[in-house]
Amino acid sequence: MTKYTLPPMRPELVVCPNSACGASDRIGVHSHKERRYICHTCHGTFAETTGTMLYGLKHPIWLVLLVLTLLAYGCPMPAIVATFNMDERTVADWQLKAGRHAKTVQEQVVCQGQLDVGQVQADELYTKTQAGSVWIASAMTVFSRLWLWGAIGWQRDERLIAPVIEHVRAAARPAQPILFAVDGFKAYVSCILKVFREPLYTGKRGRPPLVVWEDLHIVQVVKQRGGRRLLSISRRLAHGSLARAEAIMQATQIEVGRINTAYIERLNATLRTSLPALVRRTRTPSGARDRLEAALFWTGCVYNFCHVHTTLAGTPAMAADLTDHVWSIDELIRFRCQRE
Ligand SMILES: [Zn+2]
Repeated sequence: MTKYTLPPMRPELVVCPNSACGASDRIGVHSHKERRYICHTCHGTFAETTGTMLYGLKHPIWLVLLVLTLLAYGCPMPAIVATFNMDERTVADWQLKAGRHAKTVQEQVVCQGQLDVGQVQADELYTKTQAGSVWIASAMTVFSRLWLWGAIGWQRDERLIAPVIEHVRAAARPAQPILFAVDGFKAYVSCILKVFREPLYTGKRGRPPLVVWEDLHIVQVVKQRGGRRLLSISRRLAHGSLARAEAIMQATQIEVGRINTAYIERLNATLRTSLPALVRRTRTPSGARDRLEAALFWTGCVYNFCHVHTTLAGTPAMAADLTDHVWSIDELIRFRCQRE
């Protein structure tokens, strides 16, 4: 078996955890042996894990990174427990921490109102877990393949998709042309039209009226199935103009065809294979929900920042201009989120 070596220390990725300082440059290595950094601004030294989710974990970092990589790609929990002779609760705890961190990264890096989202595809998948069947809603932008947000619920209703649509809005540069390709689920249309509104300043007194974004279009792609066979696909313009919808589609995807939801269906198929296997036997539905959510955000965030897409020649985050390089799992874990 290959001997694992610790990843190199990378002071250029580190921010000083001293809250009175917070310097991001002039950080050096204080000790390779003890794996401590030094801040040349405030002259403090600190452990490499201080201020990250790795802080206080009783296991070596290489093991944590290995386990989190396996979890992101859907390795079943029992396989990890057996391979590394670990307590299942420890693995579940790391997964929960990584998921929370990933959710904050999505919030603070992706959902900052700077993305040219262009075409957004949203869809839900239904899957069985040990605590019952759940719906998982997701949205992505087609051009960069960036996974924007996801949510988990026991029912397929507006409460399931509302947080997803709200985060698409949070990510999108305001008032850009935008096409939504969604399935036939009615709640999408009302939810999108409620969320994508801007105040219209008329110069009159009082609160300005809210109007839907001008260049916003929604196409519902409805599939008729007979058993497992796909009988037909129909497309319905639910809002906006079909000509504009077609134009946005052609500008945002390489394989041009009819408006469809193929990209999100492919991503959902990937998520489906990764998620339920990760969910540890939990006694309460809310516990199962939290774990699934952690698994979803961890998988989605690794997919965005660490996973090189062959057709993009980079990661979705690179294609979306959020970063200029492929992040390692180590870099993703160490990314220092701003405290809320
Ligand atoms: Zn400092």
